[in-house]
Amino acid sequence: MLATIISHPSCHQHRMPEGHPECPERLDAINNRLLTSGVDGLVMHRQAPAVTREQLLRVHEADYLDSLEQASPSEGIVAFDTDVYLSPGTLEAARHAAGAAAHGVDLVMAGETDAVFCNVRPPGHHAEPDRAMGFCLYNNVAIAATHALEHHGLERVAIVDFDVHHGNGTQTMFYDEPRVLFCSSFQHPFYPGTPVDVNVEHIVNVPLPATCTSDEFRAAISERWLPALAEFKPQLLLISAGFDAHEEDDMSSIGLTDRDYQWVSEQLRTLVDDSREGADASQHCRGIVSTLEGGYNLSALGRSAVAHIKALAKL
Ligand SMILES: [Zn+2]
Repeated sequence: MLATIISHPSCHQHRMPEGHPECPERLDAINNRLLTSGVDGLVMHRQAPAVTREQLLRVHEADYLDSLEQASPSEGIVAFDTDVYLSPGTLEAARHAAGAAAHGVDLVMAGETDAVFCNVRPPGHHAEPDRAMGFCLYNNVAIAATHALEHHGLERVAIVDFDVHHGNGTQTMFYDEPRVLFCSSFQHPFYPGTPVDVNVEHIVNVPLPATCTSDEFRAAISERWLPALAEFKPQLLLISAGFDAHEEDDMSSIGLTDRDYQWVSEQLRTLVDDSREGADASQHCRGIVSTLEGGYNLSALGRSAVAHIKALAKL
């Protein structure tokens, strides 16, 4: 089964202030690497629909959504919140970034593909129910998860988040939702500084020291995430794919490499494949939907994201 890449031209039209690392060229870095590596011709491409208000309201408060609409400028760039800017094209980009993740779930549930990567921006995992934060407006992965639960009727959805920053918004949204297992690894202490020491069985926070090496990262994932995922038996696996823990990325101190992103992606892909060996179809994992979060060194981002996509696609 072919893997699928979902994107939308509007994702280029979200503008940040001049020189900001969360820039449209991030999407091009991934696209260019897909082309030069030959992977582009081995996957399907789909255009993202816009998210619906009903889908947004599953994780965000109506007042917050309205405040974004009201603040959207007709020209220029306005500061909306800390590290959050709105340009004329921002909300259109955000609607398609969130819509991509939900559409990825639809494609997997329809059996059209079993691995999706959403090459979209703005990212989502810092967005809280009532607040934009850290470059994020709509929580794309959380919208995909609630779409899987409420629209498709799944009972167990796992979200893994290997962005170097903690997915605070995602944690908030599923704090009281045991149908979602949330596994996050992140540099700690670090932005966003939200409480990560939670005593909730379906939230697996793996804080990593700033000095964390490849071996330490792999050991932590092997010891904490993989057993939790195997026990939870997700029917769908979602990924908040941030590549900002890369050694070449100035956003953090952690020194991961392209190979580490390939490794963690292979582990997740194997988990999905292994789940299908049992006779009980209710225990099978239907597939993986991954959505871009961070990753700001353009070369490292392109290489790491394509290593991730290749592993998910088994190429
Ligand atoms: Zn990040």
